[in-house]
Amino acid sequence: MKTAVTGGAGFIGSNLVKKLLNKGHVVVIIDDFSRGNEFNLHDLGIDTEIRRIDLRNYESTLKSIKGAEVVFHLAARVGSIDYLHGSKWNELEALQSNLIIDANVFRACLGNGVKKLVYASSVAVYPIENQDKAETTFSEDSLDHYNPEGGYGWSKLMGEIQLAWTEGLDIGIARIFNIYGENGALGKSSHVVTSLIRKAILYPQEKYIVWGNGQQTRDFLYVGDCVEALIKMQEKSTKEPLIINIGSDRAVKISTLAENIARISGRNMEIIYDPSKPTGPFSRTSDNRQARALLDWEPKVSLDEGLRRTYKWEERRLKVQ
Ligand code: NAD
Repeated sequence: MKTAVTGGAGFIGSNLVKKLLNKGHVVVIIDDFSRGNEFNLHDLGIDTEIRRIDLRNYESTLKSIKGAEVVFHLAARVGSIDYLHGSKWNELEALQSNLIIDANVFRACLGNGVKKLVYASSVAVYPIENQDKAETTFSEDSLDHYNPEGGYGWSKLMGEIQLAWTEGLDIGIARIFNIYGENGALGKSSHVVTSLIRKAILYPQEKYIVWGNGQQTRDFLYVGDCVEALIKMQEKSTKEPLIINIGSDRAVKISTLAENIARISGRNMEIIYDPSKPTGPFSRTSDNRQARALLDWEPKVSLDEGLRRTYKWEERRLKVQ
C-alpha cells in the first residue's frame, strides 16, 4: 500500500515515516523543508522517496499525491507560542498558509482517488476561553462552540470543517495535544520540552529559565505513542470522519516538567521562573476514553522515559550542530 506523508520531514512526520517503513509500507515524503533542515533524514535511517513540494501550489500538490492510497496530512505552519502568536502577522501567516495547504491537499486526495486520509488537527480547536482555568479536560464533544486559539487554531478548525463536507474517502481527524520526543524543532519553532532540555544541556552558559510561573499544565505525549495512534486512526478511519484526541490523558505542571528535566540532566541547576514571558492557555488535557474505546490505544511510554530519550537525542544533536 503506497502511503504519502505530507510534512514527513518534520517532527511527528519523520517519526511516522520511520514507523511506517519499519512496518513495510511504501512511503513517499512530501515536504518543502521550510521548517529548516535541522536533521538529515538519511541520518535518522529514513531512506525513501522524497518529493520536495510547496503544498501552497495546487498543481504540484496534485502531482505529488499521485499513486498514494493513504495520505497522512501533517504539513502545516507550526511553531512555539511566541512564534505563532507573537504578532498579528504571524497569526495571519499561519491561518492563510494552513488554509491553502489543507484545501490543496484535500482536493488533491479526491483528485487522485486516495482511499484514506488522516489529518493532523490540534487541541487548539477547542474553545480558548475554556482553557483559562486549572484542570480543563477536553473530550471530543467539547467543541460545542467555536473560539479556537488564534490563526493556527482557526486554520485547524477550518480543516476539520472542510473534511466534514468531504465525501469519497475514509477520514480520520487526530486532535493532537503536546507532543515531544526525538526530531523536535530546536530553533525558533521549538516547544517547551526541547527548549528546556536545550537550556539544561547548555547550562551554565545558558540560564535555566522557565517561561511563566510554572503553574500552567500541559498534556505531554511521547512522539512514538503519537505515531502509533495515527497509524491506528488510518486503519479505523471512516466515511463520517473519525475524530479522536491524541494525548496522554494526564496534566503535568510546567514546574514539574522543569524539575524532571533538571533531575535527568544530573545538574544542580537554579530554576528561574520568568512570568513576563508568554505561556499560552492555563490548562488543557486530553480525555482519552474515545481513543481507548475506538482505537484500542493507550500511551506506553512514561514521561520520565520519554524525557530521557529526548534528552539523549538532543545532546547528540547539539554536539553535531
Ligand atoms: P513540524 O513543523 O516539525 O512539521 C511540519 C512540516 O510541514 C515541516 O517539515 C515543514 O517543512 C512542512 N511544511 C510546512 N509548510 C509546508 C508547505 N507549504 N509545503 C510543504 N511542506 C510544508 O511540525 P510537527 O510538530 O511535526 O507537526 C505536524 C502536524 O501535527 C502539524 O499539522 C501540526 O499542526 C500538528 N500538531 C502538532 C502538535 C505538536 O505538539 N507537535 C500538536 C498539535 C498538532
